[in-house]
Amino acid sequence: MKKAIFRKFVWIILLALLASNLVFCLMMGGRNLRQTEEDLLDRLYMIDYALDYTGDVEQEIQEICSIEGNENIRVTVLTADGEVLADNGVPDDEQEQMENHLGREEVQQALKEGRGFAQRYSSTIHQQMLYAAVQTEEGYILRLAVPYEGLFTYLRILIPAALTGIAVAMAASFFMAERLARSITTPLNEIAAELRKVDKGEPEIFMKHYRYDELNVIIDAVNQMSAEIGGYVKKLELERIIRQEFFSNASHELKTPITSIKGYTELLESGLVTKPDVQKDFLGRIETEADRMTNLINDILMISKLETKDVQVEMTKFQIYPLIEDVLSSITPMANDYGIKVVTECKPLTVKANVQQIQELLSNLLVNGIKYNKPDGIVRLTVTADQEDMILVVSDTGVGIPKEAQRRVFERFYRVDKGRSKKMGGTGLGLSIVKHIVSYYGGSIKLESQVDVGTTFTVRLPVIAE
Ligand code: ADP
Repeated sequence: MKKAIFRKFVWIILLALLASNLVFCLMMGGRNLRQTEEDLLDRLYMIDYALDYTGDVEQEIQEICSIEGNENIRVTVLTADGEVLADNGVPDDEQEQMENHLGREEVQQALKEGRGFAQRYSSTIHQQMLYAAVQTEEGYILRLAVPYEGLFTYLRILIPAALTGIAVAMAASFFMAERLARSITTPLNEIAAELRKVDKGEPEIFMKHYRYDELNVIIDAVNQMSAEIGGYVKKLELERIIRQEFFSNASHELKTPITSIKGYTELLESGLVTKPDVQKDFLGRIETEADRMTNLINDILMISKLETKDVQVEMTKFQIYPLIEDVLSSITPMANDYGIKVVTECKPLTVKANVQQIQELLSNLLVNGIKYNKPDGIVRLTVTADQEDMILVVSDTGVGIPKEAQRRVFERFYRVDKGRSKKMGGTGLGLSIVKHIVSYYGGSIKLESQVDVGTTFTVRLPVIAE
């Protein structure tokens, strides 16, 4: 590219110089012709003034032409009908045979306009000549001719001057072309080098501005794109880390019940456990561990479903109260087991949402209220509306969540009291699922808790249908 710019630049300069020199030569040539014509006219008038047409015109002309400076001129005197009276360019004896000059261009013009000019090759004296003719007061035609090469006279002087000019200009243009080419190619090379960094695993690049606006438009677009890609790559990397962490946590969580189940099964198989009540106890433990695995797998499936954004979620309009009754009836046995009272207060509301998601959300919050409660404790659920928001408040009189843990309880597999959670069949995913569902609807969740006093979750979901 640098070479191409350089070559083009030099060509343009060369052409411009040639064109300007040519125009200059043409203009000078034209000017010179006019000046020579004027000069010839002046001389013609002077000769006319000096001539005595009644005397020996031939002799007079010879004398005029012998004056210094007039050696090269040829003077012809013609009668009005074109006959040659005298001509110092042709020997006397030949003058008799000279043809009638009436037809000459300059003579014709002089007869018509008083003065006339012409340029042509004189076959009489074998030279390119410039002719000027005037009609005198006496009616003669006085003609003057000088050798005239027109533009060629000038070219002889102009060509060396033009060549020197071209040489100087070319030398300067080489230098300028080199600088211009470099000023264009350097930014391009730098941009290319910066872009190549992407190949080397550097997604974020930043390019400086140059003095060419056209380049800066590209640079701005690349910088913006690079910043976006950088952000996107970071996001992907973060997602990859979260996913990896999730899988390793999930497999670890699944390993525990599997190990227990395997242990009890091996003991039962070995025949060492013979007492029926111990055998029954072992079978019960196997069932509990299997239930824990089922819960865990269900929660993992739920999370991955919520994270797969392109899965179609069926939205329907339904009354909230019957759904709450369903959830309550499924958790009542558990509440009874733990001696917890569940109280509900619910406005008759119609919502548009996914039934399974709302069930999951309510059941997770209510089950936590029961699990992390105290004997004879209470779990209270109130459902109200505020414009298009349904407000669900689940509060309990339980163990509460310490301040420092409140921020983290929504993280996957985070448990404040691991032992208690596991004993209660907790997976550590419940609140994370709740948070996912809330954000799916663009809602909000607030947690207020005091250790040993209780916990309140307030959820706002913009799902009110009427
Ligand atoms: P888990 O399956 O362990 O209950 P969650 O994600 O539902 O998992 O909750 C995470 C942790 O938050 C629980 O392990 C528990 O320590 C704490 N937690 C959740 N809800 C309550 C509550 N209502 N009262 C006290 N602690 C709670």
